[in-house]
Amino acid sequence: NLSDKLDKAFHILKGHGKITEVNVADTLKEVRRALLDADVNFKIAKDFTTKVKEKAIGQDVLTTLQPGQLLVKLVKDELTELMGGDVAGVNLSGNPTVILMSGLQGSGKTTFSGKLANFLKTKKNKKPLLVACDIYRPAAINQLHVVGDQIGVEVYSEPENKNPVEIAQNAIKHAKANGLNVVIVDTAGRLAVDQEMMDEIARVHKAIQPQETLFVVDSMTGQDAVNTAKAFNDILNFDGVILTKLDGDTRGGAAISIKSVVNKPIKFVGTGEKMEAIDIFYPDRMAERILGMGDVVSLVERAQEQFDEEEARKLQKKIAKNEFGFDDFLTQIQQVKKMGNMKDLVGMIPGASKAMKDVEIEDDAFKHIEAIIHSMTPGERSKPAIIDVKRKARIAKGSGTKVEQVNQLMKQFDQMSKMMKMMQGPGGKNLMKMMGG
Ligand code: GDP
Ligand code: MG
Repeated sequence: NLSDKLDKAFHILKGHGKITEVNVADTLKEVRRALLDADVNFKIAKDFTTKVKEKAIGQDVLTTLQPGQLLVKLVKDELTELMGGDVAGVNLSGNPTVILMSGLQGSGKTTFSGKLANFLKTKKNKKPLLVACDIYRPAAINQLHVVGDQIGVEVYSEPENKNPVEIAQNAIKHAKANGLNVVIVDTAGRLAVDQEMMDEIARVHKAIQPQETLFVVDSMTGQDAVNTAKAFNDILNFDGVILTKLDGDTRGGAAISIKSVVNKPIKFVGTGEKMEAIDIFYPDRMAERILGMGDVVSLVERAQEQFDEEEARKLQKKIAKNEFGFDDFLTQIQQVKKMGNMKDLVGMIPGASKAMKDVEIEDDAFKHIEAIIHSMTPGERSKPAIIDVKRKARIAKGSGTKVEQVNQLMKQFDQMSKMMKMMQGPGGKNLMKMMGG
């Protein structure tokens, strides 16, 4: 399935040091293939990967994240955006609120009408009325009555009347007279888009002026779902999409494509035949489900909160320009303390792990280090070379430490700066290899 494929795609990135044009291209090619396999429209899949690529290139920041993890996060964010970003609610204005269902036969309109009525009754304290406007199959009216009985919601029908516009209008009158505040109109669908069906739903739509017109689509129909959505949207300019049958072989692809093509939010998903099998559509959760990587994504998000990317980029520039000072050292210590792991400090500094291994900084050594740095003047922090014997004595006194401790920190800092400088230089690659970096 899609999750497995994406999993494989992200695997390619494992072991690479940073996101580059080359490795990101390979991975995103796989992501694109996976999306196409899930029935995402070709152009949408292509645009999607291009966008992710643009954002990914150059993301070689000094974080502890693997490039693969970072890319997962980017793909997830883009996917979420593509599916609508925020959660879209149902418009419950009007008294009564009129909700019209549209969609092909078998898409799940009747079932969803019941689910929505039940949802509004139990979760929103509404008094709904279900209306049977599928006048072509006698069984359809009966089906809605069965659904209504199940959830304890009244069903309005006129078995002898063959005019759905009249039935819908009469139902609204009935709701008003009986204090029912939501009218859900279930309509007839055909197996494929045809003119007669479109004309009929357009007439009903025009006559009852619904607050919400919902397009119901079977998520298993893949690419066809997009074409159907477009046809209905052209006629009805509907307000939202209901994606049914997401309980089977999940085709997240339909969700992605429909949103991009008709630019209408997906509001609910159906996840089974029972009346309770209804979920509000959360774009970010859907993205995670498609990626099958909820854990990775939240892990990445946590790490990103703790380590500010902008800081990392600035730091890298400073190292390159040989401007790394005690203030930066302090920032690093603070970042690491937030993450709560000493080893990460070392890991975040390119090439420094080996050099720092012998230096042995204990956790409570932070206290002294911070005190010493705080006792330095801004000038001393940015240009440690000016710290002479006299200044050292003053710093030791101010921080409540011994001159030897100041000396030790100066030495460690000096070693680290030298190391960083070498890492950045032309011989850096060889040096890094030599040191097992
Ligand atoms: P309509 O023709 O659009 O009114 O579609 P129906 O509501 O009659 O549904 C068609 C079939 O799909 C029925 O057998 C339903 O039980 C089934 N169905 C509807 N929604 C779901 C769903 O979310 N999951 C599953 N598994 N089946 C569903
Ligand atoms: Mg039906």
